[in-house]
Amino acid sequence: MKFFTGLKDRVRESLSKTRESFQDGFTRILSGRELGPATLEELEELLLQADLGVETTERFVDAMRDEARRGRLTDDGEARRTLASHLLEALKGASAPLDLDARPAVALVVGVNGSGKTTVCGKLAWRLREAGHSVLLAAGDTFRAAAIEQLERWGERAGSPVITQGPGADPSAVAFDAVKAAQARRSDILLVDTAGRLHTKSNLMAELSKVKRVVGRQLPGAPHETLLVLDATTGQNGIAQARLFHEALALTGLILTKLDGTAKGGIVVPIYRELGLPIKLVATGERAEDLAAFDPEAFVAALVGV
Ligand code: GDP
Repeated sequence: MKFFTGLKDRVRESLSKTRESFQDGFTRILSGRELGPATLEELEELLLQADLGVETTERFVDAMRDEARRGRLTDDGEARRTLASHLLEALKGASAPLDLDARPAVALVVGVNGSGKTTVCGKLAWRLREAGHSVLLAAGDTFRAAAIEQLERWGERAGSPVITQGPGADPSAVAFDAVKAAQARRSDILLVDTAGRLHTKSNLMAELSKVKRVVGRQLPGAPHETLLVLDATTGQNGIAQARLFHEALALTGLILTKLDGTAKGGIVVPIYRELGLPIKLVATGERAEDLAAFDPEAFVAALVGV
């Protein structure tokens, strides 16, 4: 599904904090200085601070060291171009389109509280409706009354009905009802919002696994997408969280939110490298239109400022 293309400017804008910290950092470190052990160490620090991860950082620093030995690489522009080519290499295969071609297609949207799940469901519904699809929303975060109301508001905006049983209901029962409703109404796409109280407490994973099983029993092949919403501002913690979700739910992809709120947009790289899951969408703000396909080339260019 290709609904999210053509949003490069928003992604670029949302990455301005990370880009500025890179640009300022490279200029500060490299202006008028020889590339030696001290400058290499500072570069290493700069990349780690942007959350690019140890693997990519080391590769980049090694490449810089080699170039310096050969007497090349003198300015910050060159250094940024070298970094961009390493990042593109590291992000090969990192993007993939949403697989929502089945009818009805079901996407289960999971993640910890506050990561932006409900907002993603709302934005997706809005975007899919704009593209002419009928969309049903399921209020599976029955733990928080506010989440149900929030989804209902998004539903109104998007023109998508919301299936709900109110606070305290069994999330699997809500999901079951929602799949039946999607089948009966011949909806194109069902988006299931879920609870996200921290995985260390209670048995969230068991609850989510049950939701997934129930959906699959009612509609063989569903859910067609099991998407983890990750808040980019949580940095490395997000990777540990993602592993737990992946083990329990066999995720099909990631949605990275709040890229606009961080100078650590580089987290995309270790997230992809360590989890091996495609990044299907990125969220760049709170407005309905702040959701874009992940485009590694545009992303890297915006991140490094090349
Ligand atoms: P949930 O608990 O996972 O459902 O998270 P919510 O969807 O309720 O989002 C938590 C907060 O993050 C809300 O205030 C959202 O408006 C905000 N939010 C969600 N996505 C983004 C984003 O991409 N950028 C910014 N800046 N805020 C976001």
